Parts: sequence; C-alpha cells; structure tokens
Amino acid sequence: MRSDARSIDEIKAIEINSHTLAFYAGRDWTRIIDEPNWKDDGAMKLGIATYAVFKENKAVIYDTFADIRQAMWVKNYLENMGIKQFTVVLSHWHLDHIAGNEVYKDYNIISNALTRELLLKNKMNIEMGCSEGPPEIKPLILPNITFDGKANLYLDNLQLKLLKINIHSKDGTIIFIPSDKILIAGDTLEDSITYIDEVENLVEHVKNLQQLKQLSPTTILPNHGDPMIIEDGGYDQTLIDATINYITRIVSRAHDKDFLMSSMKSYLREEFEQGWVHYYEPYEEVHRENLIKVHDYYKDKELPFFETDYQLGQ
Ligand SMILES: [Zn+2]
Repeated sequence: MRSDARSIDEIKAIEINSHTLAFYAGRDWTRIIDEPNWKDDGAMKLGIATYAVFKENKAVIYDTFADIRQAMWVKNYLENMGIKQFTVVLSHWHLDHIAGNEVYKDYNIISNALTRELLLKNKMNIEMGCSEGPPEIKPLILPNITFDGKANLYLDNLQLKLLKINIHSKDGTIIFIPSDKILIAGDTLEDSITYIDEVENLVEHVKNLQQLKQLSPTTILPNHGDPMIIEDGGYDQTLIDATINYITRIVSRAHDKDFLMSSMKSYLREEFEQGWVHYYEPYEEVHRENLIKVHDYYKDKELPFFETDYQLGQ
C-alpha cells in the first residue's frame, strides 16, 4: 500500500450550473493498491464522476463513487455548503458506483428494482471481494426504495426524471432534468468509447441510445468522461452519436478477417477529429476487450443490420 490519502482527496468539484455539481476523481492518481484491482484499474484509470443536484438544503446524489473515502469527501463538501438532506440515486449495480453507499445509510437510496435485485444477489460476493475481485465492499448498503420504468423526484420545483434504460447494463438508470435539458447518463455513455459488458444486448443498446436522443439533451454528463469536457460544462448529443457509431460499426465488422487487430481509432477516426469523443489511451484496453467479446459472441451468428449511422455534420 502506498499513501492512499492523496488519491482519495484529489476529488475535483466542478460547477455545472447554479444547482448541479460534478465530482471527478482519477486519471491522474496514486494507486490505492499495487496489485491489479477494480478500483485502480477500472474506475480510477478511466476517471470517474458522480453528480449532485441541489436546492436549498436538499441534494440528490447520483452514485456514491468507487471508495467510501470518496463518498465521505463528497458528503462533507455538500454539508459545508449547508446541505442537510440527501437522497441517493444509483446509476446501476457495478461496484465503482455503489462503493460509498454506506456513507448514506441513514438516508434514502433509490434504484430501479433490478439494480437492487442484482446487488442483493451478489451481496455476499461483493462483501467478500469475489464479485469483481478485491477489494471488498463491506458492509454493502442496499437501496431502500425501488422503482420500475420511470420515477420523478422533485427538489422544490426542479423535476428530476429517473428513467430505467438498458444500455451498458440492463439495470441502467439515467436522470433527465427537463428544465435544464441535462442528461446525467451514468455508464450509458463513455468518452472515449462504451465499455461493452452485456454483448448479447448490443442491438437493444443501440435502440435505447436513440431513445436518449429523443430526450433532446443539450448537456450530457457521463460517469466516465474527460474531466476537461466536464469542466467545460459537459458533452452534447454527438457523444450519443459516437457511441451508436462505435457499437454499430464494431458489430458490423465482427466477421472481418483482422477484426481482433482493428484499432479503436479505425472505428471513430472522424469522431475523434471533430471532438465528439476524445482519445484517451487507457481505453485501448477497453477496446481490445470489447473486440474479443463481440468476436466471441457473433462468431457463429449472423450479424444484425443497423439502419443508423450518424455522419458528421448532421
Ligand atoms: Zn462504471
């Protein structure tokens, strides 16, 4: 173990607007644990954000970070701003988003019913460090309120729409704030590329990504993105377009001869050039894993046909 305090305390609070904050950790950090593990090599290497929307002394927190010390940092920060009442919304059940739940054990933690079900099913393994490997999350605090499909939260008159959506993981929950046109996207959108975890659902993911476009967000805030873009106020809809293009192109080429050797840039050359997404070297490994998953899943199957391809300038 090295000096872990430094990395954990290096959270950056970023003002998105008068009532929305981003909290960003990772990318440039000191490892918490030397051995390969999900915190350092998943969350921190790619960079990870959580969000808070607040009014008066109440806040809705979107995800609790990859480490309890990060969650405590965020809660202290908000308490220093005068926030007294917290409500947590979980983006999905993956460990890098729920590790700080314990900090909010005396408050309401909301998820869709499937997220709670998956956490409950995996509780023992997560608490023993055998779900995604070590380190463990103990105790794992489960959501105490669940919803199906859609739900609304209100901070005074500010409406937050919670929407369950199958992108990246089948238990995804996004927050859309209609009056701000802000989409808090969780892991449904990532910069540089999406992390393919449930390869069998990619066709559904593309359909649902188009549904995200129907919301017409003007600001998109992903959990794994480029801190400079988030500091600049967030992404626009081209992040959705780039994600659709990446998935549809990777699936369409799955039977190509040199598929497993194909580079991340060969899928999103123009998207990188135009700044729809931003090249970040650690995503090369995500890309290599994506290729293998897509290759193995589709090797004996007919490839699906996608009608959409978002061209530049549209
Ligand atoms: Zn994640």
